Amino acid sequence: MSVLIRGGRVVTAADEYIADIFVEGERIALIGASLDLEADRVIDAAGKYVLPGAVDPHTHLAMPWRGETTIDDYESGQTAAAFGGTTTHVDFCIQGKGQSFAEALEIWHGKREGKAVIDNGFHIAITDLATDERLAELERLPEEHGVTSYKLFMAYKDSLMVDDETLFKAMQAAAKSGALVMVHAENGDAIEVLMAEAIAAGNTSPRYHALTRPPELEGEATNRAIQLAHVAGAPLYVVHVSCAESAEPIALARERGWNIWGETCTQYFFIDQSFLDKPDFEGAKYVYTPPPRPKANQDVLWNAVRTNVLQAISTDHCAYLFKGQKDAGVDDFRQIPNGGPGLENRLQMIHHFGVRDGRISLNRMVELLCTNPAKLFGLYPRKGTLAVGSDADVVVFDPEKRVTISAATHHSKADYNLFEGTEVVGSPELVLLRGSVIVDGDQLLAKPGSGQFVQRARFGEQLV
Ligand SMILES: [Zn+2]
Repeated sequence: MSVLIRGGRVVTAADEYIADIFVEGERIALIGASLDLEADRVIDAAGKYVLPGAVDPHTHLAMPWRGETTIDDYESGQTAAAFGGTTTHVDFCIQGKGQSFAEALEIWHGKREGKAVIDNGFHIAITDLATDERLAELERLPEEHGVTSYKLFMAYKDSLMVDDETLFKAMQAAAKSGALVMVHAENGDAIEVLMAEAIAAGNTSPRYHALTRPPELEGEATNRAIQLAHVAGAPLYVVHVSCAESAEPIALARERGWNIWGETCTQYFFIDQSFLDKPDFEGAKYVYTPPPRPKANQDVLWNAVRTNVLQAISTDHCAYLFKGQKDAGVDDFRQIPNGGPGLENRLQMIHHFGVRDGRISLNRMVELLCTNPAKLFGLYPRKGTLAVGSDADVVVFDPEKRVTISAATHHSKADYNLFEGTEVVGSPELVLLRGSVIVDGDQLLAKPGSGQFVQRARFGEQLV
């Protein structure tokens, strides 16, 4: 099977030019001007952008947590991703207490089998490193399972949080094994105290989700993780940076030349703390962690992605139903499942409000959404760019298409959309995964089970 994508504006992290792309089998075979080649399928991309398939480094599909499971499984979550131009994501495989990493990975592989419509890898989320056996197994994960990133939670004291000893040991293991350490950076102990005080004072509504997790506690944990990683000699990636307090220590560490990277997520540019005050419990839709911050942080984050203080934009897609899941916390904000949907709209939102509004360049958008996540997480150059030999993961993007984002038309099972009613100009029209058209307009053409698990390479710090 061969495909010729003709006459589009090819955009990578570095370049922008009009060219034809010839795909043979699953890979890009040739890029050139006016290619005189026969192909099984010819796609006219004149007037369109031709982008690398986007890579989302932070998602939670079919994740059980505190008795609820995120509403998007691999099929619905990856379908939403595909329509949004994301062809690869790295999902979190959560180790249960007392569980081996191999057991956890087997369970997560089971979740995607027969359902996957795009490619994905796994990060391992460590909750238990109590034995030497487990620590040794952690060091073998890159070699044995193609899992080259370790995530640790510094918050959620009742479930996922690890102490500093565990965090530090995981960092030492990563320094040995060549993995990248990822942290959810918030001070879980202090948050626990503030949450108990709020409830004791009768403060039960969604806004207290933000007020009990102040930005300083994200900043403190970010700095703590940075210092610990530096001592351990491990590279560190701080997930979902939401505020100035957390961006600042990352900027400082990078100025010093330390191996520190960070991401923010689409929603932090658009949703601020006041959304939690929406009437009729609607604030619960915006209960994710870290919480939406005061609006001034939005400019801080745009500047951070523009100036390379932060290197990636993910979605932290962690979808729950507003009616039927989020409402478990109607009388106690602590019981609202933490998370929001977002996998489908990242490219549309960042293209419109980032590129069209002049905050970042088209190249930088590709870098933040495709190339850097691929480089940081061992997928490059197979994923994250358009180059001869790369997987033919391609988005034909119509920069003038008008779309009104809505839960009525999105592909997630979530019964709401974080950006409901937002009008954007620019949207994916055709999406290819390894040479096969998986989305054509409003049609999903991928068969469940056709997405592949990707073994990832070890972290290469020189690449970003
Ligand atoms: Zn997350």
